[in-house]
This record gives sequence, structure tokens and C-alpha cells, in this order.
Amino acid sequence: MTQRSTAMNEKIAWQGTLVSVQPRIRLTRSFDQRNHSYLGYALRVQGIIGEDEREFTVGIGKAARLRHQFRAGDIVSGMAQPVADERTESVELYKASRLKVVERAADVVTVPPPWLGLPPELPVYRQRGHRRLDARTYQAKCLGCIWGCRMPVEMIIDQWNPSQKRYRFETFCYGPKSCSLYRAGPTRKVPGRKGMSWEEENWVDEDATAHRGEDE
Ligand code: SF4
Repeated sequence: MTQRSTAMNEKIAWQGTLVSVQPRIRLTRSFDQRNHSYLGYALRVQGIIGEDEREFTVGIGKAARLRHQFRAGDIVSGMAQPVADERTESVELYKASRLKVVERAADVVTVPPPWLGLPPELPVYRQRGHRRLDARTYQAKCLGCIWGCRMPVEMIIDQWNPSQKRYRFETFCYGPKSCSLYRAGPTRKVPGRKGMSWEEENWVDEDATAHRGEDE
């Protein structure tokens, strides 16, 4: 085993305050087709990881979310491992263990947006559907919101040769369509074979969220 892989497999102790709990969802694109994998939740933590004090992200499964009911403001601790492939994960660390709520956040009622508090179960996100969210808006306004999601995207360029892939990240909003902070940003293009590309136009988002009213 190489030195690097040994280090990658070692778990690191961390502790800090939860900035947000967002869904951890991976998107696979093949031209105009898309498929979601519901992996769990991403904890954004401001605190200490190993020897460093900074903001970092930890992936947890849905069972851990149910057990601990994590929400923004909680002080939490645990151990976790650096992800093996940063292209396919939106978090820095995963395989979390020894998770603990050191101190529960005080019950403070905040006026959304953004929506803080306990995120819903993963099937709720699937049922709601998403709209594309401008990456800069996500970074500036939505990092704390339970409806924001930064997905790792795996793009299969040629369906007859699925090993030909490209990777990127895309940001989405599962929140109410009336959210005053929402900005769609530019449409997204998906590369295909022989230099072709498919543009994901506004109707895709309208279709995915047509079953919801403006304030749902
Ligand atoms: S745009 Fe979406 S993710 Fe951002 S605050 Fe509004 S509902 Fe939340």
C-alpha cells in the first residue's frame, strides 16, 4: 500500500458548529438523460479538523441523519475519511463514525430565506424536484439553506462507450419557487459524442417542479 493511500484511508477527528445540513445527491448525465443517486447528507462544519481550524464538509448517510437529527447551529464531533475521488463527491470527508451532538442548537425561530433547521428525508427532495441555481448565488446566499444542493456531476459523453466521462459540479435549489434569493444563472450544456451538446433549457426546471405551487 502506498503512503498516499494509507493516509487517505485514515480517519481524521473533527469537531465544530454546523453551518448547514444539505442533501448529498450525485447526478449522472448522459446527453439529455439524467439520473440522481441519493447518498445522504452533507454537513458543513466550522471548526477543527485534525490540526486545522477552518470550514469543511462531511458526508453522512440517511441513518445517521435520522439518529442524530443534525441541524444548523448544533456543535457536533466525529471521525471521517478523506474521499477517494473528489470528482464524484461534493464533500471532503465521508465514512463518518463516532458522530455525536456535543451541544444542541438553541431553538431560534429565523425568518426564511434561507431555510435553516432540520432537513427533510431524501424522498422529499426526490418528490419536490429541483431547479438549476446560479453557482455564485449558491455560494453567497444558499450555503446554509436546507433546499440548496451542490451535486457532483458525472457526464457520460458517449452512451456506446460509457467509460468516456467528464466531471463537474452543479448547484440546484429544491426550495419554494417564490424564494426571493433565487437566481437561475445561465443554462447548462451537456457535452455529447462527436462534439455535440445538449442545452438544458428552462422548460426542464419548469417541468420538474410543475406539481408545486409558488410557495411550496
Ligand atoms: S434559492 Fe433555494 S437554496 Fe437558496 S435560499 Fe432560496 S430556497 Fe434556499
